[in-house]
Amino acid sequence: MYNPKSLKAEEFINHEEILDTLAYAESNKDNYELIHSIIEKAKERKGLSHRDASVLLACDNEEIIQEMYDLAEQFKKDFYGNRIVMFAPLYLSNYCVNGCVYCPYHMKNKHIPRKKLTQEEIKREVIALQDMGHKRLAIEAGEDPVNNPIEYILECINTIYSIQHKNGAIRRVNVNIAATTVENYRKLKDAGIGTYILFQETYHKESYEKLHPTGPKHNYAYHTEAMDRAMDGGIDDVGLGVLFGLELYKYEFAGLLMHAEHLEAVHGVGPHTISVPRIKRADDIDPSTFDNGISDEIFAKLCALIRISVPYTGMIISTRESKSVREKVIRLGVSQISGASRTSVGGYAEAEPEDESSAQFDVSDNRTLDEVVHWLMDMKYIPSFCTACYREGRTGDRFMALCKSKQIQNCCHPNALLTLKEYLMDYASPDTKKLGEELIERELENIPNPKAREVCIENLKKIEEGQRDFRF
Ligand code: SAM
Repeated sequence: MYNPKSLKAEEFINHEEILDTLAYAESNKDNYELIHSIIEKAKERKGLSHRDASVLLACDNEEIIQEMYDLAEQFKKDFYGNRIVMFAPLYLSNYCVNGCVYCPYHMKNKHIPRKKLTQEEIKREVIALQDMGHKRLAIEAGEDPVNNPIEYILECINTIYSIQHKNGAIRRVNVNIAATTVENYRKLKDAGIGTYILFQETYHKESYEKLHPTGPKHNYAYHTEAMDRAMDGGIDDVGLGVLFGLELYKYEFAGLLMHAEHLEAVHGVGPHTISVPRIKRADDIDPSTFDNGISDEIFAKLCALIRISVPYTGMIISTRESKSVREKVIRLGVSQISGASRTSVGGYAEAEPEDESSAQFDVSDNRTLDEVVHWLMDMKYIPSFCTACYREGRTGDRFMALCKSKQIQNCCHPNALLTLKEYLMDYASPDTKKLGEELIERELENIPNPKAREVCIENLKKIEEGQRDFRF
């Protein structure tokens, strides 16, 4: 039985409820009266239920899809302004005991080089990342209780936070590791992590079990209930995601929104972020062997509908996507992107030899961080290296309250400008610096509160004089 408040995976992600939702959506996909009423509901900015959102996803009327895009663009502007938060992944270890059929780190892969960074290697990687200008990382690791126990992950987090090289610092470490226990989540929380990210991969239980034939990840309930344990362990920023291409996208979309509804119903706070990865070519993985790949058009529609359906949830796009796809979906509601990523274990400090690649998947956007920053500013976006919220204790419902209170423009906007200024002073090429200085000048006007603007101007000056790390 479907129950969003249940703590049992199969009740809050209920297969029958998803099938009913898809049938309802299919039978109403040309019901323009209903569709318009849903769009009107969306305009209230309180989000949409999985049922309503699924009707919009089923609708293939070009004009209405354009309306959805326009609304997503409007929401993006109103909730996130023109800021785009920057991050990079850092792969710690690709030792893995699971059998995920889409991932080259699966246990049966005997030829991929297995690597685990030592603390010394982490130091080199982090310095390389700091030297690009990164302030926020997402750490990634395979699941292996012997090679990558929680103690190893905690030690790595500690090392990462402790490295201060020139003006560099990693100020927020998000963590993407396999589902674990409440006790371990508490340890991650105590280590000062930002968001705990775990992709569901697929919400379809039967497919999930086939796609994860062996290893601890085979357990659908344990994986699906992980976010509840993370929240019980005190982590209130959690990041959801589906690996698009594994199952039917309409099924996944309904499941994703049901998961968000469940977190809201049980913990009073929805997901902090949603990621939308698509399967990519990798070592022994050929994406064309998966039947459910989605086109760029469907991908954009999904992004727009996520934006409309969960307006207060950040959306993340990685370098799995090309420059042109990223360009399209940033407009539709993406709030965070990675730049200059390496998906191998090591590779920032020193490039890996091609024939010994430990990469998890091929990236489509290979530009440097400076190029990505320049490109964003050319499109009038503000690349933001801000990490203030969780350092100020604005996590979970406190962050959501900030979003809802419209104070974001007096808080996130100046923080974006201040951290961009640091980037321009310390890492940017002359061309990027020039463009950035002009952008900051222009964007100061968009801080509504005169006092906040004044403080921001003062702090920008202090950054020029050599001080760092100001935040609202
Ligand atoms: N091992 C951890 C786990 O089990 O959740 C998480 C880290 S894994 C490095 C990060 C994510 O990469 C996975 O959750 C999966 O969705 C994604 N991934 C795996 N193989 C991929 C591929 N071939 N193409 C694109 N993304 C992939």
